[in-house]
Amino acid sequence: MNIALIAHDNKKNDLVQFVTAYKTIFSKHTLFATGTTGLRISEATGLSIKRYQSGPLGGDQEIGAMIAQNNMDVVFFFRDPLTAQPHEPDVTALVRLCDVYSIPLATNMGTAELLIRGLAEGFLDWRNVIKKSGEQDEQ
Ligand code: PGA
Repeated sequence: MNIALIAHDNKKNDLVQFVTAYKTIFSKHTLFATGTTGLRISEATGLSIKRYQSGPLGGDQEIGAMIAQNNMDVVFFFRDPLTAQPHEPDVTALVRLCDVYSIPLATNMGTAELLIRGLAEGFLDWRNVIKKSGEQDEQ
């Protein structure tokens, strides 16, 4: 599965801890992240992560484009609900695209725990079916 990892500054420590705790599961998947989040997580865990631009510089939109192309299966987006973000429109757009394409999205640690455990149990395997049917449609 392709997994996106994004955290606003005040939530970066939480996401680093989360990925560290579930490193065994994350290591079985392909990881993508916005610039700074990806750097922090790869430094802390040693996991290989494809890094996009920093969020305020377009990284959220790059991940959104992957969603629109049916190339992202799960999104962990630890948002900071207490701080105004310069790229708030991008944040809203990313969440919206997850809803448009029914992409599982965790915006806080509580849901993230359920999502990662569900992923490990195979609850998201339907994404492979959707991706395969999308590929066949393109042929
Ligand atoms: P960053 O971007 O990982 O580059 O900090 C995250 C964001 O603020 O959207």
